[in-house]
Amino acid sequence: MNLTELSPAYIRAIAPYQPGKPISELAREMGLVEADIVKLASNENPLGVSPKARAAIQAGIDDLALYPDGNGFALKTALAGRLGIGLDQIVLGGGSNDLLEMVARAFLAPGTSAVYSRHAFAVYALATQAAGAIGFEAPAKDYGHDLDAMLARVQRHTRVVWIANPNNPSGTLLDNDALHRALAAFAATGAVVVLDEAYVEFMDPERRAPSIAWLREFPNLIVVRTFSKAYGLAGLRVGYAACSRELADLLNRVRQPFNVNSLALAAAEAALADDEFLAEAKRVNDAGMAQLTAGFRRLGLDWIASAGNFVAVRVVKEGDAGAIFQALLRKGIIVRPVGAYAMPEYLRVSIGLPEQNERFLAALREILAL
Ligand SMILES: *Cc1c(COP(=O)(O)O)cnc(C)c1O
Repeated sequence: MNLTELSPAYIRAIAPYQPGKPISELAREMGLVEADIVKLASNENPLGVSPKARAAIQAGIDDLALYPDGNGFALKTALAGRLGIGLDQIVLGGGSNDLLEMVARAFLAPGTSAVYSRHAFAVYALATQAAGAIGFEAPAKDYGHDLDAMLARVQRHTRVVWIANPNNPSGTLLDNDALHRALAAFAATGAVVVLDEAYVEFMDPERRAPSIAWLREFPNLIVVRTFSKAYGLAGLRVGYAACSRELADLLNRVRQPFNVNSLALAAAEAALADDEFLAEAKRVNDAGMAQLTAGFRRLGLDWIASAGNFVAVRVVKEGDAGAIFQALLRKGIIVRPVGAYAMPEYLRVSIGLPEQNERFLAALREILAL
């Protein structure tokens, strides 16, 4: 018996997601001390966990023998209050990745299709493929989403359009008016639109799309956000979707009953209330972005303007940045190669603390001078 063939061909064809290299793995491989390694590879919050979230986690340990609240009432109530929408318009996920998978399971199946952009977040293609649907990749414009090209790829059997704003790994941000026009056009096609706003908290408020207000206008819209990035809770896995009641009801049908654990629920609720931590995360990010891009300018490197907590920098004129990625690893610095995103000349670096950014820039300077 060939066990592999028990799985549908579309599952066997999946190339697994490539996460950033863990610090412990690099330490093992290179014989380095973990404390000396700088990881700027997974868009994690360099400030760590908010003190309020930490306190909530500690308080929650006593209840770990109990199942979590499967409806996430307290967190949803807090979110609904902040966003000005109903509790029944919110779906919680084990990270926003879980929500992307739920969207795929609820709307995609063999015989249907989904549309995403070239250079877009890899999970869209993966979730589409795992559901047995066909993924159509639209060409990009300056490494960002070309909404007209995406619209042109929507067909009768298209059920989901995936949009990352800002996009990861390119950091590109869509124009709000262009996005609004495109949402109206997508609504007319009957497809569900996922607007993935994993980095929205890093943006100045006046730059942000009024995506939650748009929910009233577009019942086919699903806004997806996460506590992994600006809120500093990547290890706990919690995110949320905001959408119409009808779509929330469908997502809840494919949701695991206890998909968000009790510590994650408590920590997210506390982090949501910690405005000070969020403001500090944004301040550190703005300063780090300025520090890195000034460094790139001094090194004569091009980068893609980013609205997230990371930036894609072009470290080779042509060919592949793999050798520079490896040379950085040998110096104890982990960034992210993005060849799998059709950006082989680039490395994506997450914004760190000032001294981490400086170590990365100094290492890059040495490597490029060789
Ligand atoms: C990081 C990221 C996510 C997923 O993060 P979770 O930890 O699963 O919440 C989703 N979308 C984009 C664009 C991301 O960069």
